[in-house]
Amino acid sequence: ESKVAVDYVNEVFEKVKIRNPFEAEFHQAVEEIFDSLLPVFSKHPKYMNQNILERIVEPERVISFRVPWTDDKGKVQVNRGFRVQYSSTLGPYKGGIRFHPSVNTSIIKFLGFEQIFKNSLTGLPIGGAKGGADFDPKGKSDGEIMRFTQSFMTELYKHIGPDTDVPAGDIGVGAREIGFMFGQYKRLRGAYEAGVLTGKGLEYGGSLGRKEATGYGLVYFVEEMLRDKGLSFQGSTVITSGSGNVSIYAMEKAMQLGAKVVACSDSNGYIYDENGLNLETIKRIKEVEEKRICEYVYEHPHAQYVEGCSGIWSIPCDVALPCATQNEIDECSAKILVANGVNAVGEGANMPSNLEAIDIFLENDILFAPGKAANAGGVSVSALEMSQNSARLAWPFEEVDEKLQTIMKNIYRNTVNAAEEYGYPGNLVIGSNIAGFIRVADAMIVQGVV
Ligand code: GLU
Repeated sequence: ESKVAVDYVNEVFEKVKIRNPFEAEFHQAVEEIFDSLLPVFSKHPKYMNQNILERIVEPERVISFRVPWTDDKGKVQVNRGFRVQYSSTLGPYKGGIRFHPSVNTSIIKFLGFEQIFKNSLTGLPIGGAKGGADFDPKGKSDGEIMRFTQSFMTELYKHIGPDTDVPAGDIGVGAREIGFMFGQYKRLRGAYEAGVLTGKGLEYGGSLGRKEATGYGLVYFVEEMLRDKGLSFQGSTVITSGSGNVSIYAMEKAMQLGAKVVACSDSNGYIYDENGLNLETIKRIKEVEEKRICEYVYEHPHAQYVEGCSGIWSIPCDVALPCATQNEIDECSAKILVANGVNAVGEGANMPSNLEAIDIFLENDILFAPGKAANAGGVSVSALEMSQNSARLAWPFEEVDEKLQTIMKNIYRNTVNAAEEYGYPGNLVIGSNIAGFIRVADAMIVQGVV
């Protein structure tokens, strides 16, 4: 790549590190994207001349706020809430809200930065954002969740709206939390603005297929990738990590396509059955009873439960679908997956593989589907939910699912084409970063220096 481009990217990355000290996850996401963009700057100096990189890496706005609430014992608790409104070039800010004790500025910024490129890849009119709080929903009562969520929204509502910023769920935020947020927003705003949040319940403006979208979309994407190599899910052995929305519906679609899913996990450990897992039991435990995944083995004694999470990657499989959280696959886990003959890795979570793990997969010619392309189905159906809300209509499941399939196929095709055009055929990390970047960068240029 051209020396001017290399110098430019290095210079901006140094500035990012100085401006954002001690933000390891953010630096990691920035490094991956910046490296991928070298071929773009070498070929098209206009993006350097417009200093697009330094502009896009600086969030338009970072909001951090106090979230006070009272627990069931009457004790006053305080958490920290965040909303990073990263880019509004392509549409209203759009991205999830995460409730997890690990949430901090670095995590929300890495997620928000990735969201710009993901949302751009969908081809839909949505900008990039992310939010959350360092609140731990584990072990909290319904009342505590509601009071916390209402307090969170009491501040957040000042900054969001159907045409400005449209949050959704992420880790720790599902239909229940979105419902509490919507109720509080409506009360404070004094108007029914259905399009202010996505992932809503079906009773009040949610979209059919939103719950399934990330997991189904991931499998649609990976199926395309396998097909290009003459492979498919049919008859394959699959492991997924996590047991939330993404993992459950990735398992469901993989099974529908003829795969045997042998393992999944939660943050305490994983379950494994070489004959294949029973999805009905998993759904009941996680969605209805809201219990831990270890409960599974009481009903299926043939399965084993193993404490700890990284061990799941030593199970032999054809396709690995990490659907839990960032950096769950390190170099060591990646090497074990490769040694055990994995064909494809599809990221359902955001940044589940660290930079070293990605290198291992690419060096060994493993088919690798990066999260910002492969998990874009969730936010895509969120954008379809916004369309339905604007039209005051609800589309049938089949219509949403069909649109989702088309979107995932287009993302795959655009990603493959960008990788090829810029000289890295088959490298979907580079392809997705470039394809996502070009759309938003071109729009930034025509909108002027804003
Ligand atoms: N949290 C999801 C993501 O990481 C979905 C965001 C949305 O639907 O706005 O893309």
